[in-house]
Amino acid sequence: MEIRRGIGVSSGYAIGEAYVFDRENFRVSRRTLAPAEIEGEIRRLQKASEEAAAEIRAQMDALPERIREVAGSILEAQIRMLQDKTLLEEIGSEIRRNSHTADFSASRTLKRKVKVLEESGAAAFAERAVNELGAIEKSLLRHLVGSKKAGAPSLKSAAVIIAHDLSPSQTLRLDRKNTLGLVIEVGGPTSHTAIVARSLGIPAVVGAAGISVDVSSGDMVILDGVEGKVILNPDEATLKRYQAMERNFVLLERQRARELHDLPAVTRDGTRIQILANIESPEEIPVALDMGAEGVGLYRTEFLYLDNNFEPTEKEHLEAYRRAIELLGKRKIVIRTMDLGADKMPLDGSPPEDNPFLGTRAIRLCFERPEMFKAQLRSILRVTSLGQVGMMVPMISSLSEVRKVKEILEEVRAELRSHEEPAGDSMELGIMIEVPSAAVMADILAAHVDFLSVGTNDLIGYSVAVDRKNERVAALYQPGHPAILRLLKQVIDAGQKHGKPVSVCGEMSGDLVYTLLLVGLGLRTFSVAPPAIPDLKKLIRSVSLEEAQAVAARALLFDEAEPVLEYLKAQTRRFLPDSP
Ligand code: PEP
Ligand code: MG
Repeated sequence: MEIRRGIGVSSGYAIGEAYVFDRENFRVSRRTLAPAEIEGEIRRLQKASEEAAAEIRAQMDALPERIREVAGSILEAQIRMLQDKTLLEEIGSEIRRNSHTADFSASRTLKRKVKVLEESGAAAFAERAVNELGAIEKSLLRHLVGSKKAGAPSLKSAAVIIAHDLSPSQTLRLDRKNTLGLVIEVGGPTSHTAIVARSLGIPAVVGAAGISVDVSSGDMVILDGVEGKVILNPDEATLKRYQAMERNFVLLERQRARELHDLPAVTRDGTRIQILANIESPEEIPVALDMGAEGVGLYRTEFLYLDNNFEPTEKEHLEAYRRAIELLGKRKIVIRTMDLGADKMPLDGSPPEDNPFLGTRAIRLCFERPEMFKAQLRSILRVTSLGQVGMMVPMISSLSEVRKVKEILEEVRAELRSHEEPAGDSMELGIMIEVPSAAVMADILAAHVDFLSVGTNDLIGYSVAVDRKNERVAALYQPGHPAILRLLKQVIDAGQKHGKPVSVCGEMSGDLVYTLLLVGLGLRTFSVAPPAIPDLKKLIRSVSLEEAQAVAARALLFDEAEPVLEYLKAQTRRFLPDSP
């Protein structure tokens, strides 16, 4: 048994066999072979090793002489290993003994060797040999199963997915029935993959460095999303303990959601708080409503682009929006215009950028591609009359961008009117406050729009200069940073001054530790991942506005993030003793 630490980003437990979705997305098959297939698999292994060796030789021959002198010995060593009879016999006997496929047996045998070397203590030698073995595994797998890019892991039975990284769209495409949990090597709590896992209610741990090398498909693992742990090959007692914890967790979640479903989020002294859901696709709406959401405060439409080759037709836009509105009935929905770029993949054909988080992302991309932007605006305006629809724009950094959005919106309205179509005149227009410049001048921006929604995920990242996906600097990503508290206060005050509603739709608003602070600062609308709703309601219902205001006032006095966090945790426990 081995315990590995990561960051728990989606609560819950998952117990089951691992499915390792390799860094290069090789789909290694763990199918059990029929006896008649075994010799064929051994031949497949032999052929793959010959082809891999020939490929490396061809690569070597193509190198300029000067480089061949340096790299030649490494490549020669790889060729020798691929032709090593003992290694091939070892993999062969794994195929015969366990009736496993050649790809699974090769991967497992080589991973086992890597592990032995890593534990050998001969650091300098081991590191080089580990790299060589890794390279051999990849080239064998390339010839056994081919490289399969981009698709989502496809599961035939329930499993815990282990991957170096999954894109948000791969996560969204996961087969929810069979995906017990997700363990990802990279990423932090607000990486989009973590957000999607939370929305789907899939337990997840990120930042589990190196785990995809140490685990093989089929190994037993326990994922503890509450504590951010992964337990490899657990012993019997640990397994039993976690099975009980998992049952309890699910029962309690259901019970909490049922108990609080029909109760409003209202403080003890009667201040009403609106709780909306963040969704990535209309299919998430029924679960959000079950959890007690009063509507949708953030519909991340970029997944509509990811699922439709980056160019959804107007018909596809309309279908998705109509479906969402229909599922919500009379409840509110805020559709966010697309936020592609950064970690949500650039549009196909866009040139690569050195710093995509600071590059042509979201509204900047929309301005670059006005026809594409107009297609989305037209679709949103067309569905406005069907429900209570608002639209908001991400990544606003200046007033001129707000003016430009309004101009384009008016152009689209004029077109619609010229065809005697409804032009969505009642639609409320909001902007996301997620760039520090927008937060600092929120009082100016608020006068020009109908509402503000604070995207704390990006606002924190851009303010403290931390890439939200980078686990190495994840500790510097602190929602309780005094600078963030001040920015939040500034934005909420700006909204109040202009009588414009303010919501927070970043992950911070679903984290109970910050609920008292946000209510105390004057926030009246939270938009959160649906599984967070029952606890959020419970906490809000157990505090008075005056108590929350006192907490916020005190939190603003600290000069560092750590004491803010300690203080807020203690206060949260005071009102909700069973909070984490
Ligand atoms: C945010 O930045 O807080 C936000 C809600 O937007 P996203 O996470 O989609 O970037
Ligand atoms: Mg954002």
